[in-house]
Amino acid sequence: MLVVMKADATEQDINRVVRIIQELGYRAHPMAGATRTAISITGNQGPVDATRFENLPGVAEAIRVTKPYKLITLDLRPEKTIVRVGDATIGDEELCIIAGPCAIESRTQALTVAKTVHRSGARFFRGGAFKPRTSPYSFQGLGEEGMKILAEVRDVYGLKIVTEALDEAGVDLVERYGDMIQIGARNMQNFSLLRRAGRSPLPVLLKRGLSATLEEWLLAAEYIMAEGNYQVVLCERGIRTFAQHTRNTLDVAIIPAVRAISHLPVIVDPSHASGKSSMVTPLARAGVAVGADGLMIEVHDQPERALSDGAQALTLEQYDRLVHEVRAIHEAIAPVPAL
Ligand code: PEP
Ligand code: MN
Repeated sequence: MLVVMKADATEQDINRVVRIIQELGYRAHPMAGATRTAISITGNQGPVDATRFENLPGVAEAIRVTKPYKLITLDLRPEKTIVRVGDATIGDEELCIIAGPCAIESRTQALTVAKTVHRSGARFFRGGAFKPRTSPYSFQGLGEEGMKILAEVRDVYGLKIVTEALDEAGVDLVERYGDMIQIGARNMQNFSLLRRAGRSPLPVLLKRGLSATLEEWLLAAEYIMAEGNYQVVLCERGIRTFAQHTRNTLDVAIIPAVRAISHLPVIVDPSHASGKSSMVTPLARAGVAVGADGLMIEVHDQPERALSDGAQALTLEQYDRLVHEVRAIHEAIAPVPAL
């Protein structure tokens, strides 16, 4: 059930609806938009009686929700969500760039890459301290030591730290040392992790699972939001197909497909999508051209020595060039202001 308030509904009207929802034993999710507030109800097993709300002061209508999701939808919030990470944003007119190495390998490596990322004007630094590797014998990340290096990058350059939590204990560490929780492709349907991230004060970057449908991905975001954390950014990072010329296949069509359903920001990761540094820039251009709110890029000061994902890492020079190019594309497709 979605309770849509009138444009002139008072705070008291909204609070009354919220209270009644809670008294029924459900959870209320009020979302203020530019013109009206809508309140979504979760926690109900069967249908909710619309007549309970229809005649309350300030209520425009109570709509039965027939779609599987309630909180990610444009029905609840017709305007795009802008995710705020301190004073940096994702989802507004500025193109968001999240860049850094696949894994934090040393203090020197992280600070060297961060210097270039900062100089490029990007506001976000990425780097894994806990790595989800296919083989248990591959480099697993520096763990908490890596987190401490990330915190130093934040102190030195003021960059916002985006780093992966592999499990619920990992979320505790991101909350201590970072600014945004990354949930990786392999964990997109780790429901206890999603719920834990949903109870965090930090925003969440939710990567699309290796073979996740649009609906599965959006429902994973819904898990986070159902716990009360509405600061979710979706990240398309390529899916598993029969293609052998790339590590994964970048599904650019998912960007407008998400837009048609959801108010959440969506960004593109061309690094994991291609697995090849030579393809990262062309795919980044495509991601921006198709309307993504931002990019997540892997960059390394010495890609040939990287302990993980070296083949897809851009050099510092290649990264600088990419930023320049994608900003030009972003500007070129900016909506023309109405006359
Ligand atoms: C990463 O960003 O380094 C990563 C492991 O990504 P994904 O979960 O998309 O594979
Ligand atoms: Mn990686």
